Amino acid sequence: MTLLEVDGLSAGYGRAEVLHGVTLSVAAKQIVAIVGPNGAGKTTLMHAVMGLLPRQGSVMFMGQKAGDAGWLVRHGVVLVPETRALFTDMSVEDNLELGAFARWRQGARDLRSSMADVFAVFPRLAERRRQLAGTLSGGERQMLALGRALMAQPRLLLLDEPSLGLAPKVVGDIFRVIAGLRDRGIAILIVEQNARAALQLADYGYVLEMGRVALHGPCVALAEDARVVETYLGRRRETG
Ligand code: ATP
Repeated sequence: MTLLEVDGLSAGYGRAEVLHGVTLSVAAKQIVAIVGPNGAGKTTLMHAVMGLLPRQGSVMFMGQKAGDAGWLVRHGVVLVPETRALFTDMSVEDNLELGAFARWRQGARDLRSSMADVFAVFPRLAERRRQLAGTLSGGERQMLALGRALMAQPRLLLLDEPSLGLAPKVVGDIFRVIAGLRDRGIAILIVEQNARAALQLADYGYVLEMGRVALHGPCVALAEDARVVETYLGRRRETG
């Protein structure tokens, strides 16, 4: 089943159009990667899909025309932003609780069990539950950002550069968790500059260049495509 269907999406800032008619889709239980160079429009794409920027074209979620960010959150689409918008002077636990705020407003009162689920995925967060978010390591912050998104019980997670600034080993840990989320039935759209890691993780990939989809296909095929190898995989890139 197709969860997210984006067709002819254009968006930008003021008069500067950054995305020019992007078409892509994400099926249930699928990890889809968007790779591409700096400035290609990857973050803009996430924000436009999420309704955080004015957009043209069509965004459908589970067969319905997507509304604004609030609509998407209520329907189970959650963005984990690049800036890791954590509340640095609040505890791990309080940050997690805020992730369930929209559900709480809709009447959900199962925050304790949701938090227990998040702690099962990220035992490190359980150990540090009373620590201030601002004092966590980079990897732990990324875990908290993911954990907070999980508190919303998402159907689709939009991940913006989860590897940013992390050491290669930590990237491996985080990507293993992301693969595990797919196994729990959560679909994932991930934007990454680390093309090597992203194409290993994902099922299907899109290469975004200058606001357009230059190539797309199953990741196993993309990883062997001469252009992708030359431009994105040729040299082993540092992830840190
Ligand atoms: P990176 O991998 O470096 O994060 P990206 O592929 O995510 O890059 P975007 O951040 O989407 O690229 O930026 C695409 C283009 O839009 C760039 O030219 C950037 O300068 C421009 N841009 C991004 N944010 C804004 C903004 N708030 N106002 C104006 N222009 C912006």
